Amino acid sequence: MEWIGLNQLRTAFFDFFKNKGHMLLGSYPLVPKNDNSLLLINSGMAPMKNWFLGKETPPSRRIVTCQKCIRTPDIDLVGQTARHGTFFEMLGNFSFGDYFKHEATKWAWEFVTCVLKMPQNKLYVTVYENDDETYNIWKNDIGISEDHISRLGKEDNFWEIGSGPCGPCSEIYFDRGEKFGCGRKNCGPGCECDRFVEFWNLVFSQFDNDGNGTYTRMKNPNIDTGMGLERLACIIQGVDNLFEVDTIREILAHVCEIAEVRYGESLKNDVSIRIITGI
Ligand SMILES: [Zn+2]
Repeated sequence: MEWIGLNQLRTAFFDFFKNKGHMLLGSYPLVPKNDNSLLLINSGMAPMKNWFLGKETPPSRRIVTCQKCIRTPDIDLVGQTARHGTFFEMLGNFSFGDYFKHEATKWAWEFVTCVLKMPQNKLYVTVYENDDETYNIWKNDIGISEDHISRLGKEDNFWEIGSGPCGPCSEIYFDRGEKFGCGRKNCGPGCECDRFVEFWNLVFSQFDNDGNGTYTRMKNPNIDTGMGLERLACIIQGVDNLFEVDTIREILAHVCEIAEVRYGESLKNDVSIRIITGI
């Protein structure tokens, strides 16, 4: 696997999906427009809700974006650890009633193994526990061995965030190796330890949740995928923390320059430097 810079990863993703007939759109602002269910944009699909629900027509049935996102559940941990941040970019390819599971899985695999050249033996996929269709696509159409496919429950493999479009999903994991593992017999994708890193979530968006737990099947199912750009960069660049990714390291260096402090000299300063860099 070759080292690739974060900005080059973003471009490679755009080029790949443009070649598959997707229209490239810029990132939407972090503050949602005409959506009072969200304070800040937290995923690539969030600004596209009305397209997913069929309330408005998208400019193309195939779209690719890199969306600026903020997620705050771990805000108290930012700075304390080397992997928590609130701001990140999310790569995504989207289908609005156009292609569905077959293409989404096939293209994700092609991008990861042919463009990024990730070794196949390090890759694992998961499917929602009763989604036999996706299980069979990974196994029979793409040719992944059964010991690299696992079924996970609703907590891991059913995507929803507040109200709006949702559905079963399938995730791709990278195995960082035994030294990051917990050593337990059943360690695998979904384990709490640091060995298996989930980096791409393919959502088969086929329901609309009204926010009160009522799921309505949508007429035309959609595809919504999300891959954290910084997390992907960690894997490709072979680093195990956010602050060692090429572009983020530069932000951190700039923070140190302005504050006239050095990173790695005092624990107290390091936490502050990471908070300013990571939020
Ligand atoms: Zn484990």
